Amino acid sequence: MLRAIKYELNPTKAQKTLIKQSCGCCRKVYNVMLDRKIGAYKKDGTTLSAFELINQLPKLKSELEYLKECPSQALQQVIKNLDKAYQNFFRKGGNGYPKFKKKGIKDSFRIPVACAIDYDNWTVKTAKIGTIKIYKGHNKQIKGTIKSYTITHTNTGKYFISVLYETMDKPKLNNNKSVGIDIGIKDFATLSDGTVFENQKHLKSNLKKLRVLQRTASRRYQKNKKREEQSNNWKKSVRQVAKLHERITFQRNDYLHKISTWIANNYSIICIETLNVKGMMKNYHLAQAISDCGWSKFVNMLEYKCDNLVKIDKWFASSQTCFECGYKNTNIKDLSIREWTCPVCGTYHNRDLNAAKNIEREGLSLCGHKVSGCTMLAPRTPPL
Ligand SMILES: [Zn+2]
Repeated sequence: MLRAIKYELNPTKAQKTLIKQSCGCCRKVYNVMLDRKIGAYKKDGTTLSAFELINQLPKLKSELEYLKECPSQALQQVIKNLDKAYQNFFRKGGNGYPKFKKKGIKDSFRIPVACAIDYDNWTVKTAKIGTIKIYKGHNKQIKGTIKSYTITHTNTGKYFISVLYETMDKPKLNNNKSVGIDIGIKDFATLSDGTVFENQKHLKSNLKKLRVLQRTASRRYQKNKKREEQSNNWKKSVRQVAKLHERITFQRNDYLHKISTWIANNYSIICIETLNVKGMMKNYHLAQAISDCGWSKFVNMLEYKCDNLVKIDKWFASSQTCFECGYKNTNIKDLSIREWTCPVCGTYHNRDLNAAKNIEREGLSLCGHKVSGCTMLAPRTPPL
């Protein structure tokens, strides 16, 4: 099983410069190669493969001396990433056409070999940059084989290393307790046993603050000037926006980690609906709410934290079906209906709880378990 862990780095001044330079080199190579790919296609309709582009690297390095400062595996990895970006573009329903990289947006480089981490001193030995200190904090140690690592430089002046590793250990929990999870906008998640995880309120207030800061930044932007020529006030605003963005991301991730860990520690079979997040994002009003919730991130976390995650088709009518008698009430498509009474059996339903129970039953039947009826419980708050 592949897992990733992220540590914050504490590089020296010289190391910071080296990291920034390496990010710059990777960005340069990416942009040059993208340009060559586009050029070759325009010229005679040929597609340059990753192999061909990697073969062009030595020549490019002799033209641009500074590329030699960067770990060479990182540069090759960039070309592989570019190739991946193309494959994603051609895949059905895939991403957009690969774009040229800009400075300050996701500055990073990946090295596809192991790094050595010394947990006595909390340092990591990396290619070309040398031994960098790690902030210990509450971080866990890696138990497994390291596959690759990525060093990132954020626009708020922080440095991180994400380490991808393979582990053999299988989670220990086997209490045969199952649960269905309904993810929503009003409440973040409702479990089939009645536990409700609310959406965070302080996140909302931060989003309001963010909107104000963004407005200030755009007011201070002078259209006819280049980025470097903009006023110091504009630069300050941009920094503030980036800092708040980062805080919001941290808060959200922290919450998602807490919920997913709690669920993984309490249930051994977890059923969840696969969401059509992309389709939902097209709905403008839903989009903001969804991107705040971080649903796909949450499903991702459950995926690596739980042993038995059963995903149910997104077309399964979990909220419309009565859990007791199976009657399908199509009026419930309207998201504003929070509670309803089944016209056939007369059961009173909480929309999300009913959905969660249906998801649990469907999930269990998918993995061949016999399911008996559940009793309705009043929503309760989780002990986080
Ligand atoms: Zn019914």
